[in-house]
Amino acid sequence: MAALDSWPAIKDIARSVQAGETTAISQVEKALAIIEKSKDYNAILSVTSERARKRAVEIDASIAKGQKIGKLAGVPFIAKDNFLAFGAPTTAASHILENFEAPYQASAIAKLEAEGAILVAKSNLDAFAHGSSTENSAYGPTKNPHDISRVPGGSSGGSAAAVALGLTPFALGTDTGGSIRLPASYCGVIGFKPTYGLVSRYGVVAMASSTDVIGPFARNAQDTAIVLDVLAGRDSFDGTTIERQKQYEVGSASLKGKKIGIVKEFFGKGLSEDVRKNIDAQISIAKKEGAEVVEVSIPSIDLALAVYYVLVPAEVSSNLSRYDGQRYGLSATDAENLDESYELARERGFEAENKRRILIGTYVLSSGYYDAYYKKAQTVRTKLISEFNEVFEKVDFLLGPTAPGTAFKLGENVDDPLAMYLVDIMTVSANLVGIPSVSVPAGTASGLPVGMQLMAPQSKDAELLELAYAFEEVQS
Ligand code: GLN
Repeated sequence: MAALDSWPAIKDIARSVQAGETTAISQVEKALAIIEKSKDYNAILSVTSERARKRAVEIDASIAKGQKIGKLAGVPFIAKDNFLAFGAPTTAASHILENFEAPYQASAIAKLEAEGAILVAKSNLDAFAHGSSTENSAYGPTKNPHDISRVPGGSSGGSAAAVALGLTPFALGTDTGGSIRLPASYCGVIGFKPTYGLVSRYGVVAMASSTDVIGPFARNAQDTAIVLDVLAGRDSFDGTTIERQKQYEVGSASLKGKKIGIVKEFFGKGLSEDVRKNIDAQISIAKKEGAEVVEVSIPSIDLALAVYYVLVPAEVSSNLSRYDGQRYGLSATDAENLDESYELARERGFEAENKRRILIGTYVLSSGYYDAYYKKAQTVRTKLISEFNEVFEKVDFLLGPTAPGTAFKLGENVDDPLAMYLVDIMTVSANLVGIPSVSVPAGTASGLPVGMQLMAPQSKDAELLELAYAFEEVQS
């Protein structure tokens, strides 16, 4: 494991900053120094040092005056480069937004900063979050901290690698079909995808608005809970947000009596033996600790990937239409006329995978094919939701692998979009259904991390975190 440095628990950092035992500025300087050492991994697209130092100095001055800061006082963090933050570039790892500086700010960033957290850098991703390896970034791929010849997963690969490398104690990602959980599993950290709507999407570059969620990467369940507790809840800027459920915290959790369903469909062919072994070991632990473990079946899971790759490109094609080279972002000043300026800006500014999705999305929404593809996919999505609901009448949680295998080699899937899409086969369902889902470390196989995926019904995020914590406790 290639952590370049380590951090105390988030609550301890915040407590000692507040108590004056250390300073916010020293936390920021520490993070900036580690980031500087991490260049080989290409996890970071821009460093927000000026903004971070200014904020840290303000926090330290307030503390010196006896003011109370908040539960993240002086804690540095990194956000995927599709979050808008004042004074920071936001490229979404694309050329079309290469020189874009945010005129407004994501609610998630604002909430974290209101509690004293400090944004120190923006992390790499697949351009517009389209991908599973971070190789679709216009600025080169991020490397896996456990093996530099492998991908960190995607699309939030930079944030996952950042936490695994110890650049900051936590980082933010977005998850439209697995982009938090997959890189978490490949990099050996926790990645939490909340219930759809629990965290405001305001100020985050949209991918597919009906499945996009925002969530944290951290090293353990307790840190994850502290961050989620700050992020969760209604936001008047995002009409899809929901009420927070209660306090998100982990204390004493046990696996005893927990009803856990093992999703049969996740254990079919295609699952690597390595991953199967590690997940089986976790299932044995759960049983030994007194959990009630039963096998369950959700037959439509086998169709989920096909549904996802119709619906998501449809929403992508609509969300990306705003990047036309006229209002902001890259503009083709050499174009002879308006049509050509649209074409050139998009041709130059989008990556191949962005273009593929715009084409697929426009096709499935076109009048001749809408019923055959888009409408059909929505029908199957509804069926998938009702199958999950039925299973959740019998069990409280679901368990399975996060991905069929461990981190693959850089370049291994780049020329084969279908192979790349298949990596998402176990994560997309939770997005289509809108339920919370977390990837927790489940040991290693041949030196590479394996992730276990746990899921819960909508709005049971706190319970899901407790379950993750319970596994963590018995593993250690
Ligand atoms: N890998 C998936 C995709 O390419 C998920 C992306 C995401 O969650 N942002 O669509």
